[in-house]
Amino acid sequence: MSTQRPVTQGETLAAQGFAPPDSPYGEVVPPIHIATTYERAGDGSYPGGRLYSRDQNPGYDAPEALLAALEGGAAALLFGSGMAASAAVLQALQPGDRIVAPRVIYWGWRKLLQQFCQQWGLALAWYDNADTDDLAARLDEAATRLVWVETPANPTWEVTDLQRAAQLAHQHGALLVVDSTAATPVLSRPLEFGADLVMHSATKYLNGHADVIAGALVTRAQDAFWERIRQVRNLGGAVLGPVEAALLLRGMRTLFLRVRAASANALALARFLETQPQVLSVAYPGLPGHPGHAVACAQMQGGFGGMLSLRLAAGEAAARQVAASLQVFRRATSLGSTESLVEHRASVEGPGSPCPPDLLRVSVGIEALDDLLADFAQALRGAG
Ligand code: PLP
Repeated sequence: MSTQRPVTQGETLAAQGFAPPDSPYGEVVPPIHIATTYERAGDGSYPGGRLYSRDQNPGYDAPEALLAALEGGAAALLFGSGMAASAAVLQALQPGDRIVAPRVIYWGWRKLLQQFCQQWGLALAWYDNADTDDLAARLDEAATRLVWVETPANPTWEVTDLQRAAQLAHQHGALLVVDSTAATPVLSRPLEFGADLVMHSATKYLNGHADVIAGALVTRAQDAFWERIRQVRNLGGAVLGPVEAALLLRGMRTLFLRVRAASANALALARFLETQPQVLSVAYPGLPGHPGHAVACAQMQGGFGGMLSLRLAAGEAAARQVAASLQVFRRATSLGSTESLVEHRASVEGPGSPCPPDLLRVSVGIEALDDLLADFAQALRGAG
């Protein structure tokens, strides 16, 4: 499909959604394929090249090809959720393999690592986010198969130097996997900095409309490890439904517009919040005072994303009060959709969360900026 098209920019590919040029009707959007199985010819062959749609749904072709092209990878695989995509990486490892992961990451992933690595015979060590010297020290301790990076990291938005992390991982014979959900391929392409695999919760910016749970992996090379991941998806069956695949592709058509608009709104909101006396600190990689700003400038282009967090000077009660007072921002978990969301993150993550109790996580959407600024201005007025 892709070979019939002129080489072009990601933005053009996304806007056109990799629509197949070979449709008999000239459709500009691929159809939704709901068949679960495919008929054999009399000689036992499969004329359409597909056997069973658990992981062979034709509706995966366009979003997978588009995502691989956007990330500059050799191939992509869709999964039934971001967690399923991440878990497939773990399941492709061998018992005894060691993983080194950052302390602050998407909390569900941290929980899964904590609860299942030992049971699955995998060794696990943690490093301090964004601290590649600490990562190097953990790698010196024992042979490691896989280094995990999430950047910017949820919910404190630390930025890890991808090039350095890739160098360290490879020096130690490990693979580098990057959860690039918050950055998206619009802003950062981790494979270009040496990552081996990129993971996305496609539920977030890739889909962008809070109506699909999906995940994706993109690989630099179609090697033996990738083949194992493919088998995990096929045999484990954590696949995406055909309607969800079509919705995801529809969302990806506007990915560039949405991510740029959300990034611009987030930068303006972060600058505003920084000036407010009720705000103790703002974590946003686009602010010059952010410890990862220089690295973010080097590995992100066109913006710093739509995610930020703020801490309230008057503590947890004030944070909860601000969340309760916001009227334009919706109080909900998740991120990366068109509407702005706010949440008191520590109470979502529960006991053991490294998230400060005075922190609010904000997913900045694409609404009118003035509405977002006015909403925070009114909510902060009541916060001491
Ligand atoms: N990675 C990040 C950074 C996330 O924010 C999330 C979900 O919030 C996930 C992974 C898990 O994705 P999903 O909810 O699609 O399973």
